Amino acid sequence: MAAATAPTSFHIRRSFNYNANLQNSFRKVRSVKARSIITANSLRAPRPQNVSGEFFVDHTCIDCDTCRWMAPENFTRAGDMSAVFKQPSCEEERLRALQALLSCPTSSIHTEKPPHDILEVQKTFPIPIDEHTLPGVYHCGYHSDKSFGAASYLIVRAEGNILVDSPRYTTQLENNLKMLGGARYMFLTHSDDVADHEKWSNHLGCERILHSLEVDHSTAAVEIKLEGSGPWSLSDDVTLVHTPGHTEGSVCLLYKPRNILFTGDHFAMGERGWTIFERYNKLSVPKQLNSVKLMLDLDFEWILPGHGRRAKFKDVEEKNSSLRAFLETKMQLL
Ligand SMILES: [Zn+2]
Repeated sequence: MAAATAPTSFHIRRSFNYNANLQNSFRKVRSVKARSIITANSLRAPRPQNVSGEFFVDHTCIDCDTCRWMAPENFTRAGDMSAVFKQPSCEEERLRALQALLSCPTSSIHTEKPPHDILEVQKTFPIPIDEHTLPGVYHCGYHSDKSFGAASYLIVRAEGNILVDSPRYTTQLENNLKMLGGARYMFLTHSDDVADHEKWSNHLGCERILHSLEVDHSTAAVEIKLEGSGPWSLSDDVTLVHTPGHTEGSVCLLYKPRNILFTGDHFAMGERGWTIFERYNKLSVPKQLNSVKLMLDLDFEWILPGHGRRAKFKDVEEKNSSLRAFLETKMQLL
């Protein structure tokens, strides 16, 4: 009996200690959980840099600049994040602020109360870039944190629509894109901006295009892999131009009917002028500058980038003199 009871009490003791430890662990987990809830709540609280009012930006902002160029009348950079510097004061400003809220890749923009018109605003996507000069070209909005907040676009064309890079997948945007004819192709400028490409491919049945040098396990199933240094023609109206530098397989899309170059992260207007995003360069800055030179030989008047801001030139001459000035300054610094 003694031999039988000893282990029992031992087990009971162990069990008790175990439970005591478990309780301590639970207490720890609870306090860690409580801490993380507090942290999560405080991250979602308004930044003190916001002006008081309906809209505010929280502490999770990744400084991607999207709200600042989508709704410049209301959002600005304060410290290393965005903030509301003026509350919307008319319907147009409110619409743009709500479009920015829906496009924010980290859902860092909020309103004090749920906006009554948010469903109506969802229907405004994709947003025409310029109805007069660029009919059929849209900004998709719904930026994805998987693409570091990059912009994506839709080109509506008789030969089949093209999605340029991947927006965040939502059923509302899918329905809206389908009302415009869906997409025959999804052109991916490079590996950074692929976001929800697989979902879009499944839902829209579009063929994805990506340079083979950008393909990894997540994009292995891409239908069309570009090889070599191009250029490649999708049809008479679309040329794909290899612009290595930011990454080895970065490719720009030239849409000739509207004189647009979709540049991905190769080249854009930053908050302080032209930029090639040197900080995020993954291959070679000199190679990227060399690829900027290639843009002198292309006829376009619009730049629609992934990151950074869109730009419009008066004509090709103005585009070339602006690019030459940028290149001269950069070459002197190298
Ligand atoms: Zn990139």
